Amino acid sequence: KLSIISLIQNETPIMPWNELDAFWMPFTSNREFKSAPRMLTSAQGMHFTSDDGRKILDGTAGLWCVNAGHGREEIAKAAYDQLKELDFASAFQMGHPRPFQLAERLIQHTPEGLDHVFFTNSGSESVETALKIAVAYHRLNGNGSKTKFIGREKGYHGTNLGGISVGGLGSNRKDFNCLIPGVDHLQHTWIKGSEFTKGQPAKGAELADELESLIALHSADNIAAVIVEPVVGAGGVFIPPQGYLERLREITRQHDILLIFDEVITGFGRIGKPFAANRFQVTPDLLTTAKGLTNGAIPMGAVFAHNKIHQAFMNGPESSIELFHGYTYSGHPVASAVALATLDIYQHEGLFEQALALEHCWQEGLHSLSDLKAVKDIRNIGLIGAVELHPGDQPGQRGKQVFLDCYWQQNTLVRGIGDTLALSPPLIINEQQIHQLVEALRTAISKIPT
Ligand code: PLP
Repeated sequence: KLSIISLIQNETPIMPWNELDAFWMPFTSNREFKSAPRMLTSAQGMHFTSDDGRKILDGTAGLWCVNAGHGREEIAKAAYDQLKELDFASAFQMGHPRPFQLAERLIQHTPEGLDHVFFTNSGSESVETALKIAVAYHRLNGNGSKTKFIGREKGYHGTNLGGISVGGLGSNRKDFNCLIPGVDHLQHTWIKGSEFTKGQPAKGAELADELESLIALHSADNIAAVIVEPVVGAGGVFIPPQGYLERLREITRQHDILLIFDEVITGFGRIGKPFAANRFQVTPDLLTTAKGLTNGAIPMGAVFAHNKIHQAFMNGPESSIELFHGYTYSGHPVASAVALATLDIYQHEGLFEQALALEHCWQEGLHSLSDLKAVKDIRNIGLIGAVELHPGDQPGQRGKQVFLDCYWQQNTLVRGIGDTLALSPPLIINEQQIHQLVEALRTAISKIPT
């Protein structure tokens, strides 16, 4: 076979496929992958190009991040221009303009009150940052015992220690016996009997009442925050039942517990509004994001803090550092420039509104697969969707079969999460491409023996 580098450079092979061993790939069955690599070598708009020259329809926006589509000139130019003007300067006790400009731009999109931005480099770092801010906030208010967290089953909050502790995916936790203490979990929100609901299932408020029991168990005096993804992504795509997020907000407010929305996936138009907080009209105290912030082009994350939280940190002596936390690359000039260019695209092309306008077509397209015997459930909101299959003899086997068939035979990239196919195309997708994506799934799923 030809090599990756030769394909990029159009030269004789200098990196044969059997030299793929050094890169320890994340969240990947490395040995299996390296025996039959799936290599993407370029991308434009809605499509990747694979090493064997096929155009692959991107049903995943890379990994829930390339919301404005691939290969955007404006983004490349912003990165290049910024690299020439100021490649790096620290934001520790120094400043440079881009992150200030970016923060001002970003808070135009957040719900009222979420007016302060702390920059990170990833979703995982955003989560750790939010958890630390929550504990420090209560301490500053004289409530130093409020240190526990409530997460949720099936929640995914990145892979750092705080994130896997509040996260609810056993596979991400089991090998690490060093989770942070004092964490409990709400039940996940999938309700039996709600299969094939379009949009939000009913009866969420009762489910959220479980938080009262956890508060009774641990005492509000000991709980710093509740963290949830408004729409669960990596855990299998679960849409919040009606009233659920609203009720969590009510209960947390009553007990002086902070509410953190992890919007790493739902940020930047994925469900037709800047954030899920806007869509559901529930304002958390802290909101974490990343991914779509830079269209996936450069790593960057952010935590939005409510004014009341920010203010609590601003009461000490002016010469003191208010928060002993930050990353070398917090507010990196190039990432900030890329994020600004990304926001321009979202705005000029009306992509958040476009996602909302396409929601119906997306929903009807996905639900048209409900006649397939192998399909157990279909879930959707905005331009996020999931087609869950009845499990076969081995859990996850059917999901993988469909993922592989889509990639090799249907020239379509979908994401297999166990037996669920998760879908999150770039927001520039059109109706014809939605149809194409659905047909690819239909063909691949139809091959499952029932
Ligand atoms: N939180 C959520 C909800 C996510 O979906 C993800 C990644 O998919 C993360 C956190 C972690 O983000 P990252 O992989 O950028 O660290």
